[in-house]
Amino acid sequence: LIAFDGVSKVFGLGASSVRALDHVDLRIDQGEFVAIMGPSGSGKSTAMNIIGCLDVPTSGRYLFKGLDVGSLDRRGRALLRRRFLGFVFQGFNLIGRTSALENVELPLTYRGIPADERRKRSLLALDRVGLKERASHAPSELSGGQQQRVAIARAIVSEPSVLLADEPTGNLDTRTSREIMDLLSDLNRQSITVVMVTHEPDMAACARRIIRFVDGHIESDNRTMETA
Ligand code: ATP
Ligand code: MG
Repeated sequence: LIAFDGVSKVFGLGASSVRALDHVDLRIDQGEFVAIMGPSGSGKSTAMNIIGCLDVPTSGRYLFKGLDVGSLDRRGRALLRRRFLGFVFQGFNLIGRTSALENVELPLTYRGIPADERRKRSLLALDRVGLKERASHAPSELSGGQQQRVAIARAIVSEPSVLLADEPTGNLDTRTSREIMDLLSDLNRQSITVVMVTHEPDMAACARRIIRFVDGHIESDNRTMETA
């Protein structure tokens, strides 16, 4: 599903350039639940941006579903994102002035899905994250954990193959983080491939594979014990 072949990413030119990724080889199969860890600046977000087709390697190849993403233009990458990828961020990135439901509908609006189907699918997504009864609430009326659930509903409403989450529990307390991890595990069991970045070992332990980045390369790549 996801394949890095000697992927490097260099930001900037000449003496001030930064090598964020250095010849990374990586395979992630359909159905995996992967946690990416590592110190600040080790290249985690850079790798996520490439996986998510938001950015392309400076050298090496990134294949998504066998497609060479580096050979696609912006438009092609945007199509891949809308069709196959869902994103969740630390800061939720919800639109404050509209309801939870309208936030979840947004990706479907971009895809030109008719209003009634949009509504139906968005309510279903909110139901999957346990927030159907909060559909009409504004993000400001929801707790941090609930806002992250709305963001997850928005990320899965297009039924992506892969859910990418960069520090999804970074702004949440331990108990709420645990609930979000349980939700991600549930979604993974329902066949979504999940790749998340986290600094918290407890959260990473919820994944079935932990990849550790150091200085732009993979330092370790381990299967975790099966969590019930
Ligand atoms: P954190 O845990 O702090 O989020 P990270 O592992 O996600 O760190 P990255 O954001 O991938 O780290 O950054 C890796 C390196 O690349 C860092 O040295 C960073 O400063 C640099 N970098 C990232 N994005 C850019 C950019 N757009 N322009 C220049 N340098 C960048
Ligand atoms: Mg980061």
